Amino acid sequence: MINFDYLRTASVNATLDAIKREPRAAFIAGGTNLVDLMKRGVTSPPRLIDINNLPLKNIERTSSGISIGALATNSAVAINEMIRSDFPLLSQALHAGASPQLRNMATVGGNMLQRTRCTYFYDTTMPCNKRQAGSGCGALGGYNRMHAIFGASDKCIAVHPSDMCVALVALNATAVVRSNKGERRIPFGDFHRLPGDTPQTDNQLKAGELITAVEIPSNKFQQHSFYLKIRDRSSYAFALVSVAVALSIENNRISDARIAAGGVAHKPWRLLNVEKALTGQPASVETFQKAASIATQGAKGYGQNNFKLKLLPQAIIQALETASS
Ligand code: SF4
Repeated sequence: MINFDYLRTASVNATLDAIKREPRAAFIAGGTNLVDLMKRGVTSPPRLIDINNLPLKNIERTSSGISIGALATNSAVAINEMIRSDFPLLSQALHAGASPQLRNMATVGGNMLQRTRCTYFYDTTMPCNKRQAGSGCGALGGYNRMHAIFGASDKCIAVHPSDMCVALVALNATAVVRSNKGERRIPFGDFHRLPGDTPQTDNQLKAGELITAVEIPSNKFQQHSFYLKIRDRSSYAFALVSVAVALSIENNRISDARIAAGGVAHKPWRLLNVEKALTGQPASVETFQKAASIATQGAKGYGQNNFKLKLLPQAIIQALETASS
């Protein structure tokens, strides 16, 4: 049994004061990842700051799009009428994640902060640079079927496990964060980071910062969006490869394209080269095949995950065909 303090806060300012008093504390909302990490001894914060009572659950239209409170649950966002009609890609990605029970508890902010599901990260008897800097990487020469093909380092080849974040990267979302110094906005594609020499750091949040909202700009992708998730079983499994596709098609020609992939990197992976190859082209199978053929430029397999080098282009073609139909 690991002892920890528990504190429930009622306002954002009180929460920011609380984290300033104990910087080693962890915020807890749904707890769907943090509680597992604590039970397994992967993390042991001396204090939990329960933020469930903060007024951060609203989903509301703004002059430029939509704002989603960080404490809105994954279920609430997935079934929200505005999200379903204006941002169907996000609704699809959320429905692809976890299980209904988990989606009822998990929040938007928590989803962004969930940690890799690399088995060595959760097994405290094994080396893992992300859990314990300098201890080594069990996955590099071990079981790495689920691991990265883009942006990995010799310190860590883990992938980010979220589906929601893949859609948010494709939709050019922005993370809104608060600290005692004020508010700042982080483009979603920059929020998560690559492992480099410091894989223990997952994202760009600074000490004392709290995620308060995610903003998504309006778009023209309502008719042609699709989230394809390929996994070992059809529910309650993390992606081997996932693809978020959003197209704007006018007179059978692609006027705008967004593609991001999950299960392939330490962060949701935007495929700008594929987007460029699609834009201005006819919405045809030939275009999709040609664009997908360059998707794995710069990718590298680590043995057991080499199949992702073939799976990703195929998944992109299938998602494009579905989105464009
Ligand atoms: Fe740890 Fe990353 Fe290696 Fe997995 S891939 S064992 S998370 S360092």
